[in-house]
Amino acid sequence: MNIPDIIIAIDGYSSTGKSSFARKAAARFGFLYLDSGALYRGVTLFAREEMLINRLNKVNPALEKALENLDLHFSADGRLFMGPRCIEQEIRSLEVSSQVSPIAAVPYVRHWVDDKLHEFGRRGRIVMDGRDIGTAVFPNAELKIFMTASEEVRARRRYDELCAKGEKPLLEEVVKNLRERDYIDSHRETAPLRRADDAFVLDNSEMGFDEELAWIQGVIQGKFSIL
Ligand code: C5P
Repeated sequence: MNIPDIIIAIDGYSSTGKSSFARKAAARFGFLYLDSGALYRGVTLFAREEMLINRLNKVNPALEKALENLDLHFSADGRLFMGPRCIEQEIRSLEVSSQVSPIAAVPYVRHWVDDKLHEFGRRGRIVMDGRDIGTAVFPNAELKIFMTASEEVRARRRYDELCAKGEKPLLEEVVKNLRERDYIDSHRETAPLRRADDAFVLDNSEMGFDEELAWIQGVIQGKFSIL
């Protein structure tokens, strides 16, 4: 399929499988994949290590200045690095997950991440996933998708993912984390999570990857009149 040089913005609730879907769609279309959540997770890991967020999720205002020296970047195969160190595993832990939404609600943090995302977006032909890509980061993205799935399916996916990495989470903890993140993400003042009016909704509660790919191909063919 010959797809024009577009930006595909994928937003949605936590653990709806956005990243896996976005990564696969990008590979299928020969696009670059960008995980905006990884950057928020990277900032969270940094804030934890610099002790700029406390146990009650209170963020120290010194984080704003400290961000000037933070080097987060992706390797060619899409792994996140902090300076020379690969932090791909650490940013997916339940500890980082439980503090990322308060960090992502801070306006100057969003600003810092947005600058990076806009830089990446300049080249087009990208699939980017997150919470505000179609509403705030790239409101003119040519294709917007909003992903959702039942809470049960989402919690189970996240639980299995953590177990596969050797963590031993409690299912209740995972459910609690999903609910908290969705609540904070949808109720924050700056760029809250919401469906863009022109986004296509994908509920993948009962879908596998092949079906998801068939779905997006159908959407693209229809929207861009590709045969
Ligand atoms: O996508 P992922 O679950 O890794 O994102 C982690 C967190 O980063 C989200 O719960 C949300 O708080 C924040 N986020 C955001 N805006 C984005 C992407 C992620 O606020 N565009």
